[in-house]
Amino acid sequence: MNVSVAAAGEIVWMIGIIVWYVIRYPFERRAKRVRIVSHRRSGLDRAALVSALLGLSILPAFYVATGIPRVADYPARFWAIVVGALMFTLAMWVFRRTHKELGRNWSVTLEIRDRHELVCNGPYALIRHPMYTSFLLMGLGQAFLLSNWIAGPAGIVGFAVLFFARADKEERMMLEIFGSRYRDYMSRTKRIIPYLY
Ligand code: SAH
Repeated sequence: MNVSVAAAGEIVWMIGIIVWYVIRYPFERRAKRVRIVSHRRSGLDRAALVSALLGLSILPAFYVATGIPRVADYPARFWAIVVGALMFTLAMWVFRRTHKELGRNWSVTLEIRDRHELVCNGPYALIRHPMYTSFLLMGLGQAFLLSNWIAGPAGIVGFAVLFFARADKEERMMLEIFGSRYRDYMSRTKRIIPYLY
């Protein structure tokens, strides 16, 4: 019983990751065609991206494929899989909305594109970093879906490294480019949790 519940969690996680990539892929392709006029890429930002990738995909994928590290396994619970599936679904919904809103302004790193527009609609009307919110929801979902003390929480760690390495820099970059418009926007929005933070 428990083995199949654990397997169900792993299957839901795998489906979630596939959905994640299906949403992102067209934006990666399109981004190649839009000129970059300014950027804040750095070694630190690259390292933060790698840690998010490690925690939210490579480490859990390795666990799902091999079962390693088995010593960190704990018994799977059906309710946890349901909670994880709901969180992942919400994460993918937010993730898709952010891509639709950002459109041609999207970048995987900190970049300003040709004719970059400040987006303040949809999820961006409430929070400045809804895509990072979707990573947090994914990380939380992963922690519920994978019954392993290392592969499960790795996503939250990956998200935290990316968010804390980047949010300040990203906001500084947006302030430099958009000035008082971004300052006003900051005054009426939170960072990643609507009305709270
Ligand atoms: N931090 C945002 C966006 C992540 S993608 C989020 O979590 O939803 C990173 C790129 O998005 C950055 O290079 C920046 O140029 C762009 N960006 C961030 N906020 C934006 C906004 N409100 N409008 C337009 N572009 C934005």
